[in-house]
Amino acid sequence: MKKDTLGDLAFFGGPRAFESVRSTSNLVQPDSDKVIRYIRTAYEQRRLTDNGLLVQTLEKRLAEIHETAHCITTCSGFIALMICMRVLALKGRREVIMPSLTYRRLADVAAWAGLTPCFCNVDVTSLGMTRDTVEPCISGETALIVGVHPITNLCDIDGLEQVSSAHSIPLLFDSVEAAWATHKGKMIGSFGHAEVFSLHASKLLNGFEGGYVMTNDGDLADALRAMSRYGYLGEDSSAEMGLNAKLNEMHAAMTLACLDDLDNQIERNRQRHLRYHQFLSPIRGLDVIPYDEIEKRGYKNVLVRLNASWPLTRDLTLQVLHAENMLARPYYFPALHTKATTYTTHRCGDLRTTEWLSRCYILLPCGDFVSEDDIRVVADLLDFLQHRGREINDRAAQESDL
Ligand SMILES: *Cc1c(COP(=O)(O)O)cnc(C)c1O
Repeated sequence: MKKDTLGDLAFFGGPRAFESVRSTSNLVQPDSDKVIRYIRTAYEQRRLTDNGLLVQTLEKRLAEIHETAHCITTCSGFIALMICMRVLALKGRREVIMPSLTYRRLADVAAWAGLTPCFCNVDVTSLGMTRDTVEPCISGETALIVGVHPITNLCDIDGLEQVSSAHSIPLLFDSVEAAWATHKGKMIGSFGHAEVFSLHASKLLNGFEGGYVMTNDGDLADALRAMSRYGYLGEDSSAEMGLNAKLNEMHAAMTLACLDDLDNQIERNRQRHLRYHQFLSPIRGLDVIPYDEIEKRGYKNVLVRLNASWPLTRDLTLQVLHAENMLARPYYFPALHTKATTYTTHRCGDLRTTEWLSRCYILLPCGDFVSEDDIRVVADLLDFLQHRGREINDRAAQESDL
């Protein structure tokens, strides 16, 4: 199975390293009996949606875990972000500051909320926003700052909170990629004005689909809850604008079953990350981005930087891996400010650093369907690419000329 010659690479017609794909998504599947037991309680209650028992239980457990007063579940992380942007943005202003190197649809979320994305840079080490990358973007039009946690590290929580309070601009965190992280020993969830999480099947906590918002602000929680439940405020009264963003009992059942096993899942993730670290450390051109071992982390992804001694372009690296059924992915590519949109966007200053960073990283296969043996296979392939990179480049160029 180990590659000896260039012809052994699936990219050049050799056999694939894996019969079926190895993806970069988490795709954890909780015990199905447990999911069904939870669903049965919803059936017995005869309440399948609309703040049923399972949603109430889930919101309570999440509030305890995140050490935050209020949890509002929603049908997706996207919609949770949209509602938060809508409610939090300062009235009469339009711009939302967000990184350009981030979740591919974040600018769309702002547009759906009737706001204009304003793209900022990220720090070259953490890949997250900092006080220094955000503060120069603030203007009289700034309605909101969306602090997004990058994959692996956290953004500069303290710095963004300082900017937010110094300029009296609300701060929302997109904490989807930082679920189960701590900052200075404190669980995330209560930083800024609110934090948003996702329950999509590819995230740490799998609810099929879903999301939730955490906040310590009771009035904000009431406003978010009202808007996401048709704008309903009580008998005969409704908020200006509402939509249906409820989480149903089936999705809450799946999430609760996942939550019951989460500590084990995180430990499995950590073991996979350790293996990658160990197997890739002899490969000069690759740096596995470490997780902070002092703080709590979910260890969901394996993020690797291609440094100057890596012989292939990022694109060719990905093509070679894909041919082997290793669905490695680029880290948030392309940068959002380089994409054409049907709505207006602004960029804040020079984003060349972001463009450069957007070409340096890949995410390797991970999650519950990737075994230690699989990681060995991926590492052996990458080692082969490191050593035979020049020849691979030449042959790929020749074949594309034909
Ligand atoms: C997945 C993701 C979202 C969207 O969550 P969905 O539940 O899939 O709508 C938002 N932000 C980030 C950083 C994400 O990774």
